Amino acid sequence: MLYDVVIIGSGPAGYTAGIYSIRAGLKTIILEGENYGGQLMTTTEIYNYPGFPDGISGAELMENMRKQCINQGCDIKSENVTSVDFTSNEKHFIAKTYKSSYDSKTIIIATGATAKKLDIPNGEKFWNRGISACAVCDGALPVFRNKQLVVVGGGDTACEEAIYLSKFGSKVYILVRSNQMRASHHMKEKVLNNEKIEILYNTEVIDVSGTNKVEKIHLINNIDKIETTINISGLFYAIGHTPNTSFLNGSLALNTSGYILSNNTKTDIPGVFVCGDVQDYIYRQAITAAGSGCMAALEAEKYLNGSK
Ligand code: NDP
Repeated sequence: MLYDVVIIGSGPAGYTAGIYSIRAGLKTIILEGENYGGQLMTTTEIYNYPGFPDGISGAELMENMRKQCINQGCDIKSENVTSVDFTSNEKHFIAKTYKSSYDSKTIIIATGATAKKLDIPNGEKFWNRGISACAVCDGALPVFRNKQLVVVGGGDTACEEAIYLSKFGSKVYILVRSNQMRASHHMKEKVLNNEKIEILYNTEVIDVSGTNKVEKIHLINNIDKIETTINISGLFYAIGHTPNTSFLNGSLALNTSGYILSNNTKTDIPGVFVCGDVQDYIYRQAITAAGSGCMAALEAEKYLNGSK
C-alpha cells in the first residue's frame, strides 16, 4: 500500500498532523512508537492548553487526540521507526520499523525530544535505583515516600517535578546551577510557596553514592567551592531534552543542538515535513506542537496537490 502521508511519532504534533491529514482526504498512517503519546503522558495537569477551563491531564489529552485520529480514519501502528529511506527509486519514501515498512508520498516527522541525563560517575550505576528523569512516572513509588528527594534543573519541568514530589517526599531540594531559575513566574511562585521545597542556587551534583540504591548526593557550590553531602533517596533530572533524530542517520539537516532545521515545517528534502519538539527548541509547548502538526499536514497536502 502506498500512503499519502506517513506520520512518525505521536504526541500533540503527530496526532494533530494526523487529524488534519485524514480530514484532507489523504491516506494517512501514524507510526506512533511503542510508547505513544510523547512527553505529555508523563505530565500532570495541564492548565494552559486552550479549551479545558479546569485543566486536563496530559495522558487524557493524548488519549483524546489519539481517539480523534482513529475516529476520523487514520491508521495507527504502535511501532518504532528504525530508519527512513529517502532515496527510493520509486519516487516515494519508505519508513521502516522492526516489523514492517511503509511506503508514502510524504513523511511528517513528529518524534519529539527525550529528557537529558547528568554526566556523573555513578549516574548509570544508580539509574532506576533512585535516579529518574521522570518524577511523575516514578515519584509515587514507596522507596521515595517520606524521604529527602532532589530535583536538578531550574526550568518549569524542575518546578513541576518538585511540586509533584512534595506530595510524597519529606523534603525536596531543587538544585539550580546558576543564581537564578528560568522557570515561569507562576511556577516559581508555586515552588516558593511550598514549604517542603528548598532551592539551592549555584549548586551542582558531583556524584551519588549508596549500596544498592541512591542514599547520598554529593554537591558543590560553584561559587565558594564548598562541598556538602545530603542523605537522599531520589534524584530526578529536569535539565532539558535531546531531539529524537537518531533514526534519520544524518539524512536531514539539523541545527547545532540537533533539532531538525525547517522552514514552515518544510525540511531540506521536498515532501518531508517536521513538527513539534523535534524541530522546536524555543516554545516547546503542547499547543505550539499541535499548531505545527496542523501546519505540517497542510504543507503535505499542498505538496501532494503540486502547489509548493
Ligand atoms: P529548560 O530548558 O527550560 O530548563 C532546563 C534547566 O536545566 C535550566 O535551568 C538549565 O540551567 C538546567 N540544566 C541544563 N543542563 C544542566 C546541567 N548539566 N546541570 C544542571 N542544570 C542543568 O527545560 P524544561 O524541561 O524545564 O522546560 C522546557 C520547556 O517546556 C520550557 O519552555 C518550559 O516552559 C516548558 N514546560 C512547561 C510546563 C507547563 O507549562 N506546565 C511544564 C514543563 C515544561 P540553565 O538555566 O543554567 O541553563
